[in-house]
Amino acid sequence: MKATTPAAGTTGRPTEQDWAAAVDAVRTGLRPGARVLLVCHVNPDGDALGSMLGFAQGLRRLGVTSLQCTFPGPLTVPEPLHMPAMDLLIPEAEADPAPDLLVTFDAASESRLGALVDRLETATVSLVLDHHASNTGFGKVSLVDPCAAATSVVAAELLRRLDVPLDRDMAECLYIALVTDTGSFKFDLTTPEVHELAARLVATGIDVGAISRRIFDSRPFGAVRLFGEVMGRAQLEPASAGGRGLVYAVATLDDLRKHDQPPYVLEALIDSVRCVAEADVALLLKQVAPTEWAVSMRSKGGADVSRIAVAMGGGGHRLAAGFTGHGTAEEIIDAVRERLAAQG
Ligand code: AMP
Ligand code: MN
Ligand code: MN
Repeated sequence: MKATTPAAGTTGRPTEQDWAAAVDAVRTGLRPGARVLLVCHVNPDGDALGSMLGFAQGLRRLGVTSLQCTFPGPLTVPEPLHMPAMDLLIPEAEADPAPDLLVTFDAASESRLGALVDRLETATVSLVLDHHASNTGFGKVSLVDPCAAATSVVAAELLRRLDVPLDRDMAECLYIALVTDTGSFKFDLTTPEVHELAARLVATGIDVGAISRRIFDSRPFGAVRLFGEVMGRAQLEPASAGGRGLVYAVATLDDLRKHDQPPYVLEALIDSVRCVAEADVALLLKQVAPTEWAVSMRSKGGADVSRIAVAMGGGGHRLAAGFTGHGTAEEIIDAVRERLAAQG
């Protein structure tokens, strides 16, 4: 997709009615005594956490006092993603069972909400903020912009429509979300609007150099050696993916153990795989259990990896998608290779 922004209503982008419904939904959370629960997707990335915590601070500004932020699974945030307002995070077990307002962030499907999915039923109002073209349309009110580079673009626009002034901490969270999902303003959806939002965020005085170093340019020596070892085993198949080339790498639990590294360090590894010039499609398998793998896929434009991810039970975008794979690494690679061949 090129960096253009087609008119609302023609491309599945939110219409003015959608924005008005979202503003109304948020207003239910502003009633005195209202309880608000914010949830982002499992295994949160910078966009999930940053859009949620940035929006949370906006709600605080608007006067919301009963405010919880959470995500499914253990309440751990990788160090590179530490950001302001993390004190709002609570374990999922403590999440309000029936909030007045539920807002979800960066979740393309209900399955990404884990056990918190029941809040879609129990909440009085549910609002979905997202930017995945594969979004399944869940939630009573849905604000999904497939042309937005990050969920934080949607969250920031909603805050603007609610007349919330940006402050530095809020901006840091929204910026982390933006910079991670655009790969530092390099990916295809980096529109003029993205840079305009970035300008507004940077104008609050955030330290963009320090943020970038922490997120992108800093990793333990053990992780660097681990990357070298995994990349040393990478395979290139020029004839796969309809002749446009497939490159893949596999990082195992043994690799992590050997270099004494936590799993989150592997999140950056896909960038080393996807830069291979001879391949349109890059595939990275990250082992999470003996027969369970977190699979990342990237395309340079020839293949629609989101279709493959959805078919494999995951989701994502046309050029960046993922799923949880079960079986051996070879079985998963075979399945992806076959689906790529079927796409032609
Ligand atoms: P990643 O490869 O983990 O950086 O993810 C790339 C894109 O795919 C992101 O937009 C994710 O939201 C999406 N994605 C990754 N894993 C999954 C999954 N298991 N289920 C649904 N979407 C996923
Ligand atoms: Mn995400
Ligand atoms: Mn996102």
